[in-house]
Amino acid sequence: MSENISTQVEPIMSTYNRFPITLTKGKGSFVWDDSGKKYLDYTSGIATCNLGHVPDVVQEQVEKQLQQLWHCSNLYHIPSQQKLAAKLVENSCGDQVFFCNSGAEANEAALKLARKYASKHKGEDSAEIVTFTNSFHGRTLGSLSATGQEKLQQGFAPLLPGFRYLPFNDEKALEQLVQSNTCAVLLELVQGEGGVLPADPHWVDQLIEICKKNDILVMVDEIQTGMGRTGTLFTYEQYGIEPDVISIAKGLGSGIPIGAIIAKEHVAEVFGPGTHGSTFGGNPVATTAGLATVNHLVESNVIKQSKDIASYLLEGLTKLSEKYNQIEAVRGKGLLLGLVVKGNAIDYVNEAREHNLLILVAGPNVIRILPPLTTTKEEADQFLEIIDKVFASK
Ligand SMILES: *Cc1c(COP(=O)(O)O)cnc(C)c1O
Repeated sequence: MSENISTQVEPIMSTYNRFPITLTKGKGSFVWDDSGKKYLDYTSGIATCNLGHVPDVVQEQVEKQLQQLWHCSNLYHIPSQQKLAAKLVENSCGDQVFFCNSGAEANEAALKLARKYASKHKGEDSAEIVTFTNSFHGRTLGSLSATGQEKLQQGFAPLLPGFRYLPFNDEKALEQLVQSNTCAVLLELVQGEGGVLPADPHWVDQLIEICKKNDILVMVDEIQTGMGRTGTLFTYEQYGIEPDVISIAKGLGSGIPIGAIIAKEHVAEVFGPGTHGSTFGGNPVATTAGLATVNHLVESNVIKQSKDIASYLLEGLTKLSEKYNQIEAVRGKGLLLGLVVKGNAIDYVNEAREHNLLILVAGPNVIRILPPLTTTKEEADQFLEIIDKVFASK
């Protein structure tokens, strides 16, 4: 339409390919569009609304906080921030928390922390951070430089120096992990955007061993895999490892924007006063949402129940993969599930929407399924019935 000069320019930049529906309401596992049509939402706002939409336990606390104080900056103590930090420390292998507002910002904090740690303990030139091909760590220049996907980096050169990408799940390539200037690795334990690909436990073991031997920080990006998504509060627990730094965001606030890193004390201590900051980071409303979310995740049996549903869905999807040869593989962990398909994953996603089911893609040929952890067996049956119809129609 660029030749038509009378065409009004859209006021929003076109960075997103949006689906042609407008969502105006959500509760639990369902959302409604502006015509009143109801959808089963197995995207959870991209692994964010892990307790379902507008969960009562979070809503009540946030509404109370909205009556009290919205913002005061980090020049003052914030009780909900202190409580949330304590809860995260109590339920992880980390000792101290820094709060920000998003996943990319959490990774920025992790990258800066690693560099600061290295400058103190190894010297200024030991700044190299190793990440992995097909990873996704965010869209800011720092986190994009960490992201091992050329197509996302196209046109944004010069990127931040000091990153090296190794092939994911490749044991042989680990021989090249340590260079004289390497200070940290950053990895996803299930690559989310990169195609719902779990890290091989043996590969992770070897990676950790090399890092331990060479005083290289292990930083895990749990922005998508954290907050109960894969069947434990954090996915690193299932690998029997203790990372030095954990970045989280998406599910932390049940949909209220918040991010954080949790780090071991000997690493965190290099972030002294004035080294890093964020105006909104750890804001009273956001940390109230985070605290209510984490309290519910650790005190209720929602994660435990989500594991049963995850097995049920995995079984159902595996059966479907035997029925339809368009499905090449079923993979993932907990309620972060992927279907590798022949053809374009987006075609199935679009067809599913016609049947009132919302799902996602993760790359060109992977369908990504992210139910809320609170989803019921009845909803899972509804999902399996629809997805069966979708494959039958293709
Ligand atoms: C979503 C995501 C990010 C980026 O988070 P934003 O909040 O969009 O900045 C980083 N890492 C992983 C693994 C993610 O899934």
